[in-house]
Amino acid sequence: MSKLSGITPSGHVHLGNYLGAVRRWAREGGAEDLYFVADLHGMTTPHNPAKLRSLASEQLAVLIAAGIDPERVFVQSDLARELGALTWVLECTCNYGEAARMIQFKEKSKGQAGVRLSLLTYPALMAADILLQGADEVPVGEDQRQHVELTRTLAKRFNGTYGDVFTIPRAVLPPAGARVKDLADPTRKMSKSARDAVGVVFALDEPDQIRRKIRRAVTDGGTVPVHAPDTRPGMANLLEILAACRGGAPADLAEEFSSYGAVKDAVADAVIEELRPLRERASTLLDDVAELNRVRKAGAERARERGSHRLDAALRMIGAC
Ligand code: ATP
Ligand code: MG
Repeated sequence: MSKLSGITPSGHVHLGNYLGAVRRWAREGGAEDLYFVADLHGMTTPHNPAKLRSLASEQLAVLIAAGIDPERVFVQSDLARELGALTWVLECTCNYGEAARMIQFKEKSKGQAGVRLSLLTYPALMAADILLQGADEVPVGEDQRQHVELTRTLAKRFNGTYGDVFTIPRAVLPPAGARVKDLADPTRKMSKSARDAVGVVFALDEPDQIRRKIRRAVTDGGTVPVHAPDTRPGMANLLEILAACRGGAPADLAEEFSSYGAVKDAVADAVIEELRPLRERASTLLDDVAELNRVRKAGAERARERGSHRLDAALRMIGAC
């Protein structure tokens, strides 16, 4: 059984990405699981090349610093040639209508001038990511489910038409964890691409920045902390972050405190301690460019080796070479 998960370098990794995904990948990842920095996916909407490149390096460093086995991590563009070729094969297997029906495409292209063709074809690249590696399971949220369904359709169609090459993957729901909310607007989830970063704690923020952001977190006018997500989303978010760092149930943790300020101090302490080893290891890696490049190359090489026979077979069967 192997799983494949990716993270797009659309911004700096934040506390939500860490608690909701990266930390779990490091703790629970199986020997066959793969994780990748999806930088090619970061080019489907207007982007800055230098920024994308530096965010991709940073994300790679964060994944490794979080404790994910470097042998199971790679940067997508290091496999650009393989993925580009397989994307083409899959685009030749996919109907226009199937791609145009994707909800993500409709949402992201709505009202935009100059929509990139890659925004339409990006599900074929995602299918290539999954099918090249022969992943059995793809843990995705609701927003990506339809793309995994399309991947299944394309894999079955290809296998049925040209010959059996691809493993048919399944979308699986990642284990339910609390969604970390934006500290400045607790009705929205914390997001890499949020326009305003005041409510976003980044995984590599310095301790004093973390403390400042948490102190300024928007809460309601109450005084005694309780865990009531519907009526007191700001306080609930803080208690959920505390629970994710320290363990325990948010409602029980609330009883330990008699003021909002005390909760904020405890959350700041817990988040700073939770992120400290990550920040230290990541900054060591980011300072040692040669080492980061070595690890990066090795990860790419392994992913390429794992997938290239499928690409070769698919090209041959569809009539290339
Ligand atoms: P973007 O704004 O570009 O969509 P994002 O912050 O939503 O960025 P993704 O790259 O979409 O991040 O997601 C990476 C992983 O982090 C996914 O597994 C996703 O479920 C998880 N994740 C994202 N935001 C949160 C959050 N606020 N709380 C918990 N998990 C999150
Ligand atoms: Mg997202």
